[in-house]
Amino acid sequence: MLVNLNAVLADAQQNHYAVGLFNTTDTDMLEGVISAAEECRSPVIIGTAEVLLPNGELKLIAPSIIAAAKRATIPVVVHYDHGLTFDRCMEALQLGFSSIMFDGSAGAYDKNIADTREIVKIAHAFGATVEGEIGHVGEASAEDNDATDLYTRVDEAEAYLKATGVDALAVSIGTAHGAYKSKPKLDFERLAALRAALPVPLVLHGGSGLSDDDFRTSIAKGIAKVNIFTDLCLAGNRAMSEGLSAGEAYLTIRNRKVEAIKQSVVEKMKLFGSVNRG
Ligand SMILES: [Zn+2]
Repeated sequence: MLVNLNAVLADAQQNHYAVGLFNTTDTDMLEGVISAAEECRSPVIIGTAEVLLPNGELKLIAPSIIAAAKRATIPVVVHYDHGLTFDRCMEALQLGFSSIMFDGSAGAYDKNIADTREIVKIAHAFGATVEGEIGHVGEASAEDNDATDLYTRVDEAEAYLKATGVDALAVSIGTAHGAYKSKPKLDFERLAALRAALPVPLVLHGGSGLSDDDFRTSIAKGIAKVNIFTDLCLAGNRAMSEGLSAGEAYLTIRNRKVEAIKQSVVEKMKLFGSVNRG
């Protein structure tokens, strides 16, 4: 069934597990993610991100994701990840996304607050939820991705929540997007302080490549949603490369890829503790 973030994250926050957001660019990835969620009886968040749209058009992928969510027997949130522009966020809501992330974190603090507040007002009128970001989760490929001045501060986050009314908050505690070049070091003390001060579910971006222990500690200390994309691409790549080496046909390789993505999602759902919570 199609639900919004509040329908899955409140329970996750209360019972100390996390729900995965798995981004997709096509129906192969979509099939892998949904079948993993059905098999695990796990709630799931599926979506795409604004930076991924050149690889999978929003108007084409949205109806597929929404159809899959509606016929699923577990709760599915259809989430627009890292909305960077007002127009695209509005398009996602009109297409039927049940949740959006507005990411104004690269801009000035005041503008981030004003833009987020406006989007929250509109999204809530659609019955959709909004995830915001304060502090900034950078790219793993950047030189300064461990810059602690971009980490989320408790006082800023409190003021941001009060001013914007977002339903969930992405926090910056040392993770980065993409594939890590060196092992990331997470600031768990900061995470615990954020959890103690903030009422809304907290979100960890840049989850691909973290150790199982990093996930367990992050979730124990208050993360309720984890974003994964790169790990699914790596699993799919490995499967396709194996299929090619074995001289398999296109559709056999395609099915091998979907199965590998599914298994990668199943592993994450077990690790996040969301199995049998759907
Ligand atoms: Zn992100």
